This record gives sequence, C-alpha cells and structure tokens, in this order.
Amino acid sequence: MRCNLKNRKDIPPRDVPGFNHRAARHNVVREQAIALLVIAQYLLSLLWVGFTEDMGALLSAVVPAMDRGLFFGVVFLPPLLTVGISFYAKRFLYESPRLFVIHRLNLILLMFGAAWTAILAGTPFVFETVLLLSSLLIVITPMFSLGLYLCALLFFFLGSAWTGGWTGFSWFDIGDVVLTALVGLIMVRFRFSDRVGGYLTSRTMEEQHRQLKETNRELLEANGRLQTITYLDGLTGVSNRRAFDEALEGEWRRAMRGEAPLGLLMVDIDFFKAYNDTYGHQAGDDCLKQVAGALGAVARRQGEVVARYGGEEFAVICPGGNTDALAVVGESLRRRVGALRITHPSLPWGHVSISVGGAVVVPRPGDSRERLIGRADEALYAAKEAGRNRVVIRKQAQVTL
Ligand code: GH3
Ligand code: MG
Ligand code: MG
Repeated sequence: MRCNLKNRKDIPPRDVPGFNHRAARHNVVREQAIALLVIAQYLLSLLWVGFTEDMGALLSAVVPAMDRGLFFGVVFLPPLLTVGISFYAKRFLYESPRLFVIHRLNLILLMFGAAWTAILAGTPFVFETVLLLSSLLIVITPMFSLGLYLCALLFFFLGSAWTGGWTGFSWFDIGDVVLTALVGLIMVRFRFSDRVGGYLTSRTMEEQHRQLKETNRELLEANGRLQTITYLDGLTGVSNRRAFDEALEGEWRRAMRGEAPLGLLMVDIDFFKAYNDTYGHQAGDDCLKQVAGALGAVARRQGEVVARYGGEEFAVICPGGNTDALAVVGESLRRRVGALRITHPSLPWGHVSISVGGAVVVPRPGDSRERLIGRADEALYAAKEAGRNRVVIRKQAQVTL
C-alpha cells in the first residue's frame, strides 16, 4: 500500500505516540543542526569583522554591499530565531495546528536566511548547501517544500539582481542552484513517503486489526445472546422446550453409554386455570415465574435440567439416580413450591401447589425417550388422581420399556 501524502492533513493525528515523539523530534534536532551550521558560518564571519584589516577586507569581499547593522539585524537574526523556535517546537511539533505553523515558519526563516546569505556572499553555495541538507534531513510535506523552494529561489535570484551579485553568476551557477532545488524536492518527496507513508501504512493496518478484533468480540457477544435467547423460556427464564429436548437427548446417550439410570420428573401446577380465573393472567404469569424459580433453586445438581415443558407444566431431568432418589428430588420440588405460600383459594390447603410424576430408566438400544416421558406423565396423572399436591414415581422398569 502506498500513501499519497501531500498536505498537512496527511500527517498522522496528534495522538500517535510513535510519530509524534520520535520522527518529529529527530526532524527538529536535524533542523537545529542545520541552523547551527548556518549560525556557525555567520559567527565565523563575525570574527572576521574588524579582526584585522585583512579580515575586514576579506569580509567586504565575501559580503559586498553589507554594513554591520545589516549583518546583525537581518542576517544574524533569522537563524537565531530558527534555533529558538526549533527548541520550542521540539516538544510540541505535530501536536497542535498552531505549532505546526510555527514549524513551517521556522523552515521559511531557515531557507530565506540561507538565500539572503548567499545573496550577500554573491554565490549560491550557502543556499544550495542548506537546500540539500534540509531536504535530506528534515521531513516536510512535498507541497510545502515545493512552494518554499520556489519562493526562496525567486528571492535568491531577485536579491542577487538587486545587490548586483547577479553579474558574477555564470549560467553554470544558475543551472546548479535550480538543479539543487529540483533534487531537493525529489528527495523530500521520497523521504516523506518513506517515513510518513510507511508509518501510516502500519498505523492503518493496526487500526484495521483493532477493528477486526472489536467486530469479532461483538459477534461473539451477539452469538452468546442469541444462544441464550434460543434456549431460554421468555417468561420464566428456565430452559425452554428446545433446550429440554436437546438436554434429554444428550443425557439419554450418556446414560446408555454408561448403562446408568436416567430419571425424569413432570411437574404440573394444580388447578392453575382456577388461579388464572381468580387473579387474572398477569398474576398467573407472576405465579409461573415464582414456581419456575423455586424449581430451579432445587434442581441445582450437575446434569439436572429444569425446563418449561409447556403451559404450566415443567420437566426436570435427573441423571444418575434410582426411583428413591427421584422421589426425594420430587418431594423437594413440591415443598419448595408450597413454601412460596402463594394464595390459591380453590385448593383445600389455600396456596399454590404442584403435582409431580416421575419415572426412571436405564436406557438400552431400542428404548425411546418418548416412552420415558409417557411414563412420567402417567405418574403425574396418578398424582393428580390421588388428590394433587403430591409426588408419584413409577417403579423402575427392569426390562425394555
Ligand atoms: P390441573 O390441576 O388438573 O392441572 O388443573 P389446571 O387448571 O392446572 O389444568 P388445565 O390444563 O385445565 O389448565 C391449565 C391452565 O394453565 C390453562 C391456562 O390458562 C394456564 N396457562 C398455561 N400457560 C399459561 C401462561 O403462560 N400464563 C398463564 N397466566 N396461564 C397459563
Ligand atoms: Mg396442565
Ligand atoms: Mg395444571
């Protein structure tokens, strides 16, 4: 992937640690180094000023048409400012649009300071050096450097014409400085793409990776929610019929492999129609929820599954126990529901109760789950017949059901 980076908005945002604090800092440090080079050159010139007659003469030869005021005011100040701003921008570069502007100002000063020195010196050499060094060492946007280089070139030529330095130029000098600017521009383009483009590419990939992980997580969550919805009864929160069917099938197979008993309890609320008729369907729903909660609280053993079989009927799968164990579980269920003490005036004992029927089987090939359910149902019917609010367990079948 190749990024087309031309403008400031192509620069990574301020919250990118890698780019802000490494590349930008190196950039500024180099910029300072170049500025210091330029300053050193000025300082050397300064030493020459009035040092000896000869030196003064040399300076006059190097910087014609320049008096000392001009030297300090115009030539010395821009690079000084360049260094000052560089230090200031060092910490904040790329972190705010305002400081980004300062950074550019910095470069403008550097470039025009070099051009101005070259104008005064009457040779493009200083300008070319700064041009090349900056394009080599400072990462700037290609569009900005294009504008800056063109303006600085124009400034250099116009200034040279004004000071008369122009007359000393050969076509070779002019071609040389233009070529240097072009080479500088190409280098800026490549360095910028390489440095910032490479960085942006890795950042884009990181971002894509992050999004993928996020999507994956959401998908897993949604899947989990969907599974829950598919397997739970909406009203009571216990397993629904589908979950019951799958659980029974699983337990059946397991019991068959291990030649172990599998028990099933069918639970039915007594005279629930009358309860609905007395208190209304809303109260009936609340009652169903409470009963389901009580059943769930009892059937907590591993492998036991409480499910709403349909209407006001529930089923409890109890793997691993004989008829006595099943009777104990059934009795616990009955007591727990009775302990809710939900008023039910149609029943002699005055509160909501359940009848429980159960059967146990050691499944063998050829047996069917429906037969187990049927036998538990028969037991439930027997419990109803015997007066409700009781548990009836069918004797365990010794042979095939
Ligand atoms: P029995 O003791 O013989 O079981 O009598 P019953 O009244 O409980 O039995 P019946 O089958 O005659 O009535 C079951 C009632 O359960 C009928 C129906 O209104 C009620 N019912 C079934 N599902 C719901 C439900 O989701 N909410 C409410 N409120 N009532 C329900
Ligand atoms: Mg019923
Ligand atoms: Mg009933």
